[in-house]
Amino acid sequence: MNNAPLTPHSEKDCIFCRISRGEIPARKVYEDDDFVAFHDINPVAPVHFLLIPRAHIASLAEADMRHQAVLGKMLAMAGQLAREQGCADGFRTIINTGKVGLQEVYHLHIHIIGGPQPLPPMLRKS
Ligand code: 5GP
Ligand code: ZN
Repeated sequence: MNNAPLTPHSEKDCIFCRISRGEIPARKVYEDDDFVAFHDINPVAPVHFLLIPRAHIASLAEADMRHQAVLGKMLAMAGQLAREQGCADGFRTIINTGKVGLQEVYHLHIHIIGGPQPLPPMLRKS
């Protein structure tokens, strides 16, 4: 059994904590006391930004009922932020989690992805 922790980054060197603290630059689209949204550095569609809680939660696998308010707020904010970024006709939200989910940055984030044209299918059905 692999007992390696799912949290390779501490808050100190976590890249998204550093963006939240303003220590490294990002093209922010929104911020308040609890959340920051910023453009993905490597966009996969005309609109691609990330919404993160300022609180360091490593991944959705680490979240539990203590985080229900923050998780609820994140989803509740997504629609308005997406519309403000030009997703008038819909968008896709993705939360990659852990090794299987190919998560790269271990600070919980929602990808909000869209564009004027429909996106390709998410997963190929066999
Ligand atoms: P994950 O695979 O963890 O869900 O996605 C992490 C995302 O963060 C990737 O899409 C990657 O392009 C983005 N990213 C990684 N480092 C930075 C950064 O320093 N700034 C910004 N704006 N995005 C980043
Ligand atoms: Zn963090």
